[in-house]
Amino acid sequence: MEQIVIVSFLAFFALEFLVEFVLNEINMGYVRESRAGGNIPDLFQGRVSQEEYDKSVDYTLAKGRFERWAQVYGSLMTLFILFGGLLPYFDRLTRGLEGLLPAVFKAQGILFCFSVALTFSLLSLPTGLYSTFALEERFGFNRTTVKLYLLDKLKGFLVSLVIGIPFLFGVLYLMEESGPYWWLWAFLFILAYEILMVILYPTLIAPLFNKFEPLKEGELRERILTLVGKTGFKTSGIYTMDGSRRSTHSNAYFTGLGRAKRIVLFDTLVEQMTAGQGLAVLAHEIGHYKMKHIRKMLLLYLLSFLVGYEPLFRAFGLGPSSHAALVLFSLLSGPFTFYLTPVMNLVSRRHEYEADRFAVRTLEEGRAMEEALFNLTVKNLSNLTPHPWYSAYHYSHPSVVERIRAIRQEA
Ligand SMILES: [Zn+2]
Repeated sequence: MEQIVIVSFLAFFALEFLVEFVLNEINMGYVRESRAGGNIPDLFQGRVSQEEYDKSVDYTLAKGRFERWAQVYGSLMTLFILFGGLLPYFDRLTRGLEGLLPAVFKAQGILFCFSVALTFSLLSLPTGLYSTFALEERFGFNRTTVKLYLLDKLKGFLVSLVIGIPFLFGVLYLMEESGPYWWLWAFLFILAYEILMVILYPTLIAPLFNKFEPLKEGELRERILTLVGKTGFKTSGIYTMDGSRRSTHSNAYFTGLGRAKRIVLFDTLVEQMTAGQGLAVLAHEIGHYKMKHIRKMLLLYLLSFLVGYEPLFRAFGLGPSSHAALVLFSLLSGPFTFYLTPVMNLVSRRHEYEADRFAVRTLEEGRAMEEALFNLTVKNLSNLTPHPWYSAYHYSHPSVVERIRAIRQEA
């Protein structure tokens, strides 16, 4: 039985690798070919200069080449963690500590999960550093320093300890002590924990990494308040965030719950866009907020079957335990569910269209949204000509061309 588990895992693992590797190559070829055709794609004529187009192609190709090696490295890393004897080693090591604390604290399980997670982040450091300080740097996006980058990682790790320890304790406790319907209890627990995090994030966690300031009085602020009033969206304040400390990529988002929701605009967004464009981005995000949902319960239900399946544990040199089930489930689920990526992205793209439509209806015009999209495309050097298969698989947003077409139709 162990052989079957291993062979089927490796088969799906190889398939996932192959699909993603080949799609990346196809996309790069397509982008190269489009440039060789000489012309800027029709929709972008007069919006994007030849220089900007060339730069976006170079950026896309550089990312593609990086992706090639990052994929090989990432796959080897996963195989090393799964088959390099690391998991049984951590399991033994943490069991040695079991005597120190009563079993009810779930100390072994928590330590086991953290050692695997820490190994992953340490091994991911080279690709992260290269992507930020070589790739993003070369195209002028990077603003962070190595010191700030490492400090962010360290802070992130400490925050994950504070958040993760009670979380893992809760999940492991429910898995082991709450009977056959543990997955239902765990689901409710995770849901409650998430809500707690959403409440704590804007006031306790986000300020550890960034500075937030109320948005200055002015046209943008006035127009946002009008928009917020019109959509019935509740907010406790509009803030700008110093995103420019790390990168020139721009964004806007909401945090918090109910009336305590904060609107956060990256300072880069405020700098790079006109008030009208910024407002359109915000209207789009409010559109998202109004439609959301979950699929966690199904995953936990699935996990509840795997917990009792011993060959799964033996295949990776482990004995059955809740913590091993959690770690294996998260390590193995990728290859077994990767073909769902295009489906989930399809759903996500539908939500993007809905959010765009919401923005167009609320603002009662499509031009600002269109301008905002052109602006974002140029500033972020987005790929103007993705291969249709590549975008169907990877893109959580429709391509700019598709979005603008839909916006023009709606307007
Ligand atoms: Zn969106």
